Amino acid sequence: MDTVAPGVTQLRIQRFVNVYFVETATPGEWVLVDAGLPGSLKTIVAAADKLFYPGSRPAAILLTHGHLDHLGSARELADYWQVPVLAHPLELPYLTGQAQYPPRDPTVGGSLAFMARFFPTQLPNLGERVQALDVDNPAPPYLPGWRWLHVPGHAPGQIALFRAADRTLLGADAFATCHHDSVPDILLARPEISRAGTPFNYDWQASEASVKLLADLDPAAIGCGHGPVISGPAAATGLRRLADNYPIPAHGRYVAEPARTDLSGVEHLPPPAPDALPKQLAAIGAGLLVAGATWLLVGGKRRRKPAPTPAPIDYSRRGVGD
Ligand SMILES: [Zn+2]
Ligand SMILES: [Zn+2]
Repeated sequence: MDTVAPGVTQLRIQRFVNVYFVETATPGEWVLVDAGLPGSLKTIVAAADKLFYPGSRPAAILLTHGHLDHLGSARELADYWQVPVLAHPLELPYLTGQAQYPPRDPTVGGSLAFMARFFPTQLPNLGERVQALDVDNPAPPYLPGWRWLHVPGHAPGQIALFRAADRTLLGADAFATCHHDSVPDILLARPEISRAGTPFNYDWQASEASVKLLADLDPAAIGCGHGPVISGPAAATGLRRLADNYPIPAHGRYVAEPARTDLSGVEHLPPPAPDALPKQLAAIGAGLLVAGATWLLVGGKRRRKPAPTPAPIDYSRRGVGD
């Protein structure tokens, strides 16, 4: 776990996605921001027990958006802790099985986009557990001193969280703090403020506007959905550099025209961009990428040397009672 700022702790799950424990003004009270991949309940609960006290539970789970790597364990955790899940109303159709996000764009470039062809599209349904944030109140429940900002472009109802007192920013997937177009780079997690989630970005102009909005906050510490904590002068300068030179891709389904969404889901989609990659070749490439990613995940751990053969025990030298 890493500290973003006082009372704000980042937990990285499976070396690729972050959740945050954000303490409220009341001692012992906290909010979980995002819920990791499916199957992360044990990891998140164990981290909360260690960070606070055994059996501790949050006041609520706040989702920055509903992509599978942020929503994954929300339902399990909400049931386990018996707490509500909060999200922007524009995310609710996707969180309650009413609609599907705009289709990913595998033609936009980079290995993440390449792999996106094979990511599951079915999302867990939060049903009654999810509640809509009040769009007229920029202060999120339970978190005085914080405000949420609507940062669409990557997900229609994506929100970022900002604490003005120390300029702490939780940027969700509006951008990333690691190079995010490449799967190996995501796993290596070298700190670098960059665009995030390219195959998911359904509106590139909105994505750019969201980054500019967040750069104007001049953050002193940043935690995003993907990548390590970045704090100090590098936070604001890195984000300003990205905002001033936002790299809208040269080609892709949503480059010339965005998908349009509303409170009930996707309202309009531009036609798919031609995808020249034959499916079989894509499957082979994906297999190689998965193998490479697996190697990165396990290869970083030093291979265990075989245990040395124990020296034969010389019983003749042992005294009675050994
Ligand atoms: Zn996302
Ligand atoms: Zn994400």
